[in-house]
Amino acid sequence: MEIHKEIITLNINSPVEELYDPLFTEKHVKVFIKRDDLIHPFISGNKWRKLKYNLRLARELGKDHLVTFGGAYSNHLVATACAAAKFGFKATGIVRGEERKNPSMMLCLMFGMNLVFVDRERYRDKNDLFDQYFQNDKNAYLINEGGSGKEALKGCAELIPELEQSFDHIFCAAGTGTTAAGLLKGLEQNRSETHLHVISSLKNGAFLEGEISKYGVNLQKLTLHCNYHFGGYAKSTPELLNFMRTFSSSTGILLDQVYTGKMVYAVYDMIREDRIPAGSRVLLIHTGGLLGLLSQTEKFTSSSSSSA
Ligand SMILES: *Cc1c(COP(=O)(O)O)cnc(C)c1O
Repeated sequence: MEIHKEIITLNINSPVEELYDPLFTEKHVKVFIKRDDLIHPFISGNKWRKLKYNLRLARELGKDHLVTFGGAYSNHLVATACAAAKFGFKATGIVRGEERKNPSMMLCLMFGMNLVFVDRERYRDKNDLFDQYFQNDKNAYLINEGGSGKEALKGCAELIPELEQSFDHIFCAAGTGTTAAGLLKGLEQNRSETHLHVISSLKNGAFLEGEISKYGVNLQKLTLHCNYHFGGYAKSTPELLNFMRTFSSSTGILLDQVYTGKMVYAVYDMIREDRIPAGSRVLLIHTGGLLGLLSQTEKFTSSSSSSA
């Protein structure tokens, strides 16, 4: 077996930048964004925070093969593939649906991940799949779909003590709700008064409250917003894409249509509707996810975008 002396760490104290917009001036709010998208080009955003303690635990247990799950556009699969390569693990990605060729799958392959495509029916029972393929592999370490779990919670909670200033409201996007739960945990541990707003990227996102509470965190400081899904998970509308383009063209920061685009849209909408009081300091968490945007090439044309 190869020996990897590299300590499993990345510099994750990502910068906080202020965002400027006439709307914020008019409404007397200060808006900032934590650039977790800058943590790493491929182990981006919350995916590194979720992987960090999984990788450390795997190493501690002497396991050198990471096995995880995701859809063909999963940021988590790419992050796991890259992190595995960087820190000296083998990796297998079990992918939902039939074989696909897209930038995410290509990157997984470039980083040496072994891809196994399984139909949607079989994909449902992940423990079963893991057993089927890897019960005899003593070196296999299972990471949940989307990187969720206890180790992920710990990694995501670490974002809060990185903040050098205080905020009245923090916003983040949710898929599994793990990042949100981690942030709540971090707020709790640091006795913060900050309120956390979570934007569901899925239709019927109310179940996320249950998912978040499974992590045993206090929900008092949580507001879950379920009306910014734009048709459902990975769905988008011209209005959302136009908003994203206007935002990116005035900030130099890219958003994706699956997660961060919906979250930032929600923030603008709530400020416009005076649901964020004047005088508030607001922090958006940029959880990464650029690859989602790169799947949308045909949806953007050179015609001018309407204003956000
Ligand atoms: C995976 C992902 C999320 C969802 O995080 P959860 O912890 O599953 O809620 C949010 N934003 C981006 C950019 C992601 O890639």
